[in-house]
Amino acid sequence: MFSPSFAYICNKNAWSMCVKRKIELFMVLFLLIGAIVASWKLSELTAGVSKEQKSKKNDVVIVVDPGHGGEDPGKVGVNDVLEKDLNLQVSQKVIALLEEVGIRIVTTREDDNVPTAKKEDLEQRIKLINDTNPTLALCIHQNSYPDPAIKGAQVFYYTPSEEAKAAATIVQEELRTVDPSNTRAIKANDTYYMLKNTKVPTIIVECGFLTNPEEAEKLTQEEYQNQLANAICEGIIKWLDK
Ligand SMILES: [Zn+2]
Repeated sequence: MFSPSFAYICNKNAWSMCVKRKIELFMVLFLLIGAIVASWKLSELTAGVSKEQKSKKNDVVIVVDPGHGGEDPGKVGVNDVLEKDLNLQVSQKVIALLEEVGIRIVTTREDDNVPTAKKEDLEQRIKLINDTNPTLALCIHQNSYPDPAIKGAQVFYYTPSEEAKAAATIVQEELRTVDPSNTRAIKANDTYYMLKNTKVPTIIVECGFLTNPEEAEKLTQEEYQNQLANAICEGIIKWLDK
């Protein structure tokens, strides 16, 4: 049996349920608007960060040093290719890629013209590197070894420089993507004249062995040189972003 008081309680309950629903709806709407505003602010913030990173790259200077040149051919490959020519070809590809992302490049040679005396040539390169005071100096070379089976790109760095070691590590990792069979690891060096006398983080990329017939042949191919240049740049950019 209905009593009036019971009906009143029922209606009152329905009304309070209705208000509760409305409050819930408002809260959901409030949270939704909050989430939209927050994600908008976040995207604004990340856009700012990437802009800042980009401008950081504009402050970066890298000295690219294609090894040897002129009367100094460097190593001579089993296929008679000259190291100095490969160094220049790979370096020019690296330079084009780094300039594309806004990095300023200073290079020790743009062609085959270098001082005849090796000592004078090296001194000039070292002076240019130290005077430029770049973020990184990158020397490009080719390797050789008495055993023709030995192959693979390898990165050297000057022992005391932690920054150079970090750069060498990342560049070596990227070079491994070009040739997954390459098991060579980065190597510290404190005797190379170039590494010893530059006061900035310096790495030497030995792109491959001119004493390995298969690798010597690949190193002359434009497509392989592009892959090497890409890997070197990728490594440097990742190092800069760290
Ligand atoms: Zn060399």
